[in-house]
Amino acid sequence: MKHLALIPGDGIGKEVTEVGMDIIDAISEISSFKYDAELFDIGSERYLRSGELITEEDFDDLGKKDAIYFGAIGDPRVRPGVLEKGILLNMRSRFDQYINLRPVTSWHPFVPLKKHFDFDICFLRENTEDFYMGAGGTFSNGKDATVNIKRRLYDLRVDIHTESSSDDVFAFELGMLSRKGVERFADHAFMTAVKRNEKKITLVDKANVCTSIYGMQREIFSGKAEEYGIELECMYVDAMAMAMVVRPHTFGTVAVPNLFGDILTDLGAQLQGGLGMGASGNINPTGVSMFEPIHGSAPDIAGQGKANPIAAVLAAKMMLDHLGHEDMGTMIQDAVRRCLDDGKYTADLGGKLTTRQMGAEIRKEILGAKR
Ligand code: ATP
Repeated sequence: MKHLALIPGDGIGKEVTEVGMDIIDAISEISSFKYDAELFDIGSERYLRSGELITEEDFDDLGKKDAIYFGAIGDPRVRPGVLEKGILLNMRSRFDQYINLRPVTSWHPFVPLKKHFDFDICFLRENTEDFYMGAGGTFSNGKDATVNIKRRLYDLRVDIHTESSSDDVFAFELGMLSRKGVERFADHAFMTAVKRNEKKITLVDKANVCTSIYGMQREIFSGKAEEYGIELECMYVDAMAMAMVVRPHTFGTVAVPNLFGDILTDLGAQLQGGLGMGASGNINPTGVSMFEPIHGSAPDIAGQGKANPIAAVLAAKMMLDHLGHEDMGTMIQDAVRRCLDDGKYTADLGGKLTTRQMGAEIRKEILGAKR
């Protein structure tokens, strides 16, 4: 028996997770997968009602679950960033979900590339370090030089700006990787490649420019490559962006640091057919992981039955995979494939189905496949 937390959140998050839960329900009808799900009232409505984002009690309860199934948050009535930082980023950091897992699959005919490539890329984006640590600030020349790092940064810039005067203002953002952080990320990446029966993994960086952080990352990944007996391919992020468009079928497991991962996975989302098709997992391999569609709350279409629920359904698939029910995950993926092949899809993909109708079709495929 698995214990799930359900956080539908805001906007279309509610509609698409309703479909996702229906699919999980169908799976439990026909398999040994048994679960219970506790609904958590977390999102804009509660925030606007009570000022609460997520409480210690919520964290305690969520921490006892096997996995969290999440819809989306975001509301035009709330200042941008409040819900995202206060809920989503807070949960990722509290549960130390240090890997963002994003499959990029060729969902034909929605792949916007001229050539027909079949691809199945597993992006692993490091989720806690690099340039997204929030280690930044501003300082003025000479006035606030009490901290060594500021002095050093200033000196570095002065090499370039020889004309700088004493009232110049500088802004900086630090990117940092820790040996431990890279090691645990690399271990998970190589274990993923082993699980996927791959002989090669790709590491994306910019080690020719940011030599310190990505140099260390390469060194650690090289050591792990020998340990796991898997070939390591290193790609600069600019070359990787091009390669994803001209030869996506040549990639399997791809490990990428936080900032570049943010950008490349959005490129990946479009390659596979758009926001309505992209699912993701925020993974702590030994803790509580969270699964969600990559799209947001889409207030423009919320409550109209227009949302494509496939991203949320594929997030449910990833959750089942993570909980050790890969065969059931595959069943969901196959059911989605058959629906698309039969021309059954929502308006964002050029189809006619509503959110619920799409869910009902996937459900029918799952139940039918068992018979
Ligand atoms: P948020 O502020 O919560 O991120 P947003 O509207 O800014 O919401 P998204 O929800 O990620 O950003 O998506 C942008 C647009 O893409 C939406 O306004 C919507 O029109 C479309 N869209 C997103 N997800 C879906 C979906 N599942 N099905 C159909 N259209 C979608």
